[in-house]
Amino acid sequence: MPEVEVIKRILEPQTTGNLIETLEILNNQIIAYPDAEIFTKMITGQTIINMSRRGKFLTIHFKSGDKLVLHLRMTGQLLVMPKDTPMEKHTHLLIYLEGGNQLRYIDVRRFGRFWFFKKDEIDVLTGQDKLGLEPLDKNLTSHFLKGKLGKRKKAIKDMLHDQSIIAGIGNIYSDEILYAAGIYPETKCTAMDDEEWGRLAKQIPEVIAWGINTNEMTPEEYLEGRGKEYRNISHLRVYGRAAQLCLVCQTVIEKISLGGRSSCYCPECQRKK
Ligand SMILES: [Zn+2]
Repeated sequence: MPEVEVIKRILEPQTTGNLIETLEILNNQIIAYPDAEIFTKMITGQTIINMSRRGKFLTIHFKSGDKLVLHLRMTGQLLVMPKDTPMEKHTHLLIYLEGGNQLRYIDVRRFGRFWFFKKDEIDVLTGQDKLGLEPLDKNLTSHFLKGKLGKRKKAIKDMLHDQSIIAGIGNIYSDEILYAAGIYPETKCTAMDDEEWGRLAKQIPEVIAWGINTNEMTPEEYLEGRGKEYRNISHLRVYGRAAQLCLVCQTVIEKISLGGRSSCYCPECQRKK
């Protein structure tokens, strides 16, 4: 989620007020709804008024009230660049903006998806309607977390990824949150005490807000890194740091496999119960 928020903050001022002259879909697979032909017809001539983010979804809002929803998945890159910039491999969509810029979608793995919805159309396709609270929502309290998760037998790390409870936490930030909260990733939700729920509720918004701030960059830096640099992980405190020393207590960071993903933690700061 922090990465998507950073993209939104960069692209929104670059595109707001722009009329879409035309668009070119080079790979129909990325258009989830409706079909590529209607998608092109509906978006041509629309004016962008702003962008919003929900979980890991980005929405481009048009003056007409219609909207374009997109999900970049793992490797998708969305960039604004002058239209004469040489086209890169794996470019799947070109949106021609008034004034000479293009909004381009590049993705080596083609997992990203785009949806178009008319003003009055209800989105039941993207899954956004089933998303839980935003990590920065004030309603995300220890009471909320305990109420939703307290009776679950699964590991807390796995449950942090459940988008229907909290929207937008992936593998990187679940590691960072649990480290900051001093909770061992494999701790079963049923074994968590009130103090731990409290620390978790406090650290979720703090770590996510920190992730957004440390990822912030100028549009030039973003373009130079071709949208990849926002996945910079050098600022992280525990994720990707297995076998290195904990920044707090100098214990060696360990890595375990949990729910098919890797999880890094400090055995001293995040004691197993
Ligand atoms: Zn430590």
